[in-house]
Amino acid sequence: MSPEDGADVLVVGDGPIAASAALIALRGRRRVLWLGGEEQASSSSDDPRLFALAPSSIELLRRLGVWAEIPPDEVQLYEEMHVFWAEGGRLHFLPPTRRGMILGAMVPAVSLRRGLERTLAAAGALIRRPRAVLVAREVHAGRISLRAEDGCAFRARVVLDCEGRGGTLADLAGSPRRLYEPRVRAIVGVVRSSLPHDGIARQVFAREGPLGLLPRADGALGYVWSVSEPLARSLLAMGPEGLAQRLSEASAGLLGRLTPEGPPASFPLVIQRRLRLVAPRLVLLGDAARTVHPFAGQGLNLGFRDLLALEPLLKNAPDPGAWVLLRRYERRRYPEDALAVAGLETLRRLLSRPDPWGMRARALDLLDRAECLKGLFVRLAIGPETSLPP
Ligand SMILES: Cc1cc2nc3c(=O)[nH]c(=O)nc-3n(C[C@H](O)[C@H](O)[C@H](O)COP(=O)(O)OP(=O)(O)OC[C@H]3O[C@@H](n4cnc5c(N)ncnc54)[C@H](O)[C@@H]3O)c2cc1C
Repeated sequence: MSPEDGADVLVVGDGPIAASAALIALRGRRRVLWLGGEEQASSSSDDPRLFALAPSSIELLRRLGVWAEIPPDEVQLYEEMHVFWAEGGRLHFLPPTRRGMILGAMVPAVSLRRGLERTLAAAGALIRRPRAVLVAREVHAGRISLRAEDGCAFRARVVLDCEGRGGTLADLAGSPRRLYEPRVRAIVGVVRSSLPHDGIARQVFAREGPLGLLPRADGALGYVWSVSEPLARSLLAMGPEGLAQRLSEASAGLLGRLTPEGPPASFPLVIQRRLRLVAPRLVLLGDAARTVHPFAGQGLNLGFRDLLALEPLLKNAPDPGAWVLLRRYERRRYPEDALAVAGLETLRRLLSRPDPWGMRARALDLLDRAECLKGLFVRLAIGPETSLPP
C-alpha cells in the first residue's frame, strides 16, 4: 500500500490551520498525509501580517508545543484595545478583571509559521506532498478518495479541508457559499511611530475604511488598512513614504509621525461563509469554512476554535471520519460560525457608516461606560474560558 492510500487523515492546504491540524492528528497517533506540506516546509515567507491571537488560541498552541518554538522577543502581549472614529467617539476594551488575563498576543505571521514548522519537524513521521488542484471526490468502503488534476489519487479515512477560501474542495463537497461583501483589499505592512505604542492595539474607523495599528514586540507597528479596490491601487502606487503619510492622516496623528519599515503587501478580502461544515468523510476548517473581515482580528482565532472542537475526534475516535462525529463537530461549530460572520459584518457596516450628527459618538461614549456590555464583547473575542497566565 502506498502512503497515498494508507493515511488515516489527509490534510489539504499550506496555511497555519493545515499545519496545526497535521500536528494534532500526529499527536493522536494518526498516519497523516499532507498535501501542501512541502510548500510549508520549504517556504521562507515574507508575509508582513501580524496576527492578534486570542488567549484560547495561545493555549492551544502551548498545548501543541508550538508556543515554546516562537521566540518570546517576537511576541507582544496586549492588555488594552482602543477603538476610535474619524468623526469622534471611542471605546476602550480591557481584559476581564481576573488576575493575569490578557486580551491576546500579537505574533508575526512569519514567527507563527516557523514555530509550527519547527514543532512539526520534531513531531514524527509526516508524509508531505506538494499542493495539488483537486477535481474529484468519492467515498467508498469507509474511505474518501480525492483525485487531482494531474491524475494522482489520495485516500484516507477523513479529509481536513484547510485550503483557505480559494480552494476547490468545499465546492466538491457540495457546501453552498454565502457571500457577504463586495471585494475590498487590505493593505498590510510595518511602520515606526514617533510616539510609543505602549502595548495597546488600536483600531481607527477612518473614512476610507478600518485601520488597525497593532503593537509589535520590536516597538514598531503592524498596520492593516481595509479600503476599496480603487483606493488600494492608488495608495499602493504612492510608495511606502506616501502611504505612511496617508496612514498618519487617517489615524489623525494618534501615534505621531509614521515612517515605513519595508514595502507594503496587500490581500484581497472576500467575506464568506460555507453553509455546511462537513460532508461524508470531509471537514471544513479555518478560512475554508468562513472568512471574516480582519478589523476584529478573529479569522485565525475562529480556525483555532475549529481545531479545538475537532481535537477529540482526531485523538480518540476509532474512526476519525465517522459521520456521527463529523455531525457533532458541525453542530458545535455552526452557531458560532453563523454568529461570528453575520455579527462581525453587521458591526463593521454599522461602525463604518458616516455619522454627520454625532449620534454614534454619543452612543459610543455611553457604551464606553457600560462595563458589563463591553465585558461581553471581550469574552466573545478572547474565546472559551482559559486560565492563561500572561
Ligand atoms: C490582512 C489580514 C489580517 C489578518 N489578521 C488577523 C488577525 O490579527 N487575527 C486573526 O485571528 N486572523 C487574522 N486574519 C485572518 C487569517 O489570516 C486567516 O483566518 C488565516 O490565515 C486562516 O488560515 P487557514 O490556514 O485556514 O487559511 P489560509 O491562511 O488561507 O491558508 C490556506 C492555504 O492553503 C493553500 N491551498 C489551497 N488549496 C490547496 C491545495 N489543494 N493544496 C495545498 N494547498 C492549498 C492556499 O493557497 C493557502 O496558502 C487576517 C487576514 C488578513 C487578510
